[in-house]
Amino acid sequence: MPVYDLHCHSTASDGVLSPRELVRRAAAQGVDYLALTDHDELSGLIDARATASEHGMELVAGVEVSITWRNSTVHIVGLRVDPDHALLACGLQQNRAGRSLRAERMAEELARLGIAGALEGAYAFASNKALIGRTHFARFLVERGVVKDVKTVFKKYLVKGKPGYVNHEWASLQDAVTWIHAAGGQAVLAHPGRYHFGRERMRDLLREFKELGGDAIEVVTGSHTADQVPIYADLAVEFDFLASVGSDFHAPGEGGRELGRLTPLPLRCRPVWEAW
Ligand code: AMP
Ligand code: MN
Ligand code: MN
Ligand code: MN
Repeated sequence: MPVYDLHCHSTASDGVLSPRELVRRAAAQGVDYLALTDHDELSGLIDARATASEHGMELVAGVEVSITWRNSTVHIVGLRVDPDHALLACGLQQNRAGRSLRAERMAEELARLGIAGALEGAYAFASNKALIGRTHFARFLVERGVVKDVKTVFKKYLVKGKPGYVNHEWASLQDAVTWIHAAGGQAVLAHPGRYHFGRERMRDLLREFKELGGDAIEVVTGSHTADQVPIYADLAVEFDFLASVGSDFHAPGEGGRELGRLTPLPLRCRPVWEAW
């Protein structure tokens, strides 16, 4: 059985390994199909593809699009996209453009709490300055000794209702699906179990995503507990979505899932790679 890992990050967004290092690590972990899915960014794909072919590994061109749905941030993964497609590239560019101002506002919020120098501190962790994001601020807060690890940062800071959070308007759900489909890809709802929406709101999201032509949802992800897998497997079946799997790997030793270390999809699911 080939090993699929269809969600991970490189230094092109908020991962710590370069695309080449990431692909080498995935190959060493026995991954056969790896999708690089950087946030709002495609620039890592060229190096990733070159390295994958050296290792006899299949690199799936991916992206993780940030969207705002009913005033909450949701992530839509695109798989097998054409990285040169103008509509996708242009849409992602718009999403990236908002990040620098958001970062300044996050730093102002943190300064109000007495945490100075957050903007420079966060940028120091961002290899791709255009992709400055919350993970870079989280690493800065750990380095500064404010919080013990990145996981804890996202409990105490930078999330809705907590210090350092700045509301932000990303693209719409419809935009993300349109861009991904225009680029020939499949649109996948990322880590549905992470949104804390409650049953009815989650079903509204799935219904709307389906109506817009969404293709799949992540069932097995580093963000789901073992208990959540069957819940989202059932929802995938009920709403007739394909099912995807991905570690959402960002960095060795940051507490997330290792590349390729995923449990199998429940048998009732149809894998997103069914027609590949
Ligand atoms: P941004 O796109 O800048 O809003 O940052 C989103 C990123 O923050 C995610 O992709 C994760 O890398 C990180 N993140 C958000 N929530 C959590 C969480 N609860 N635990 C760990 N990392 C998180
Ligand atoms: Mn991330
Ligand atoms: Mn995500
Ligand atoms: Mn991700």
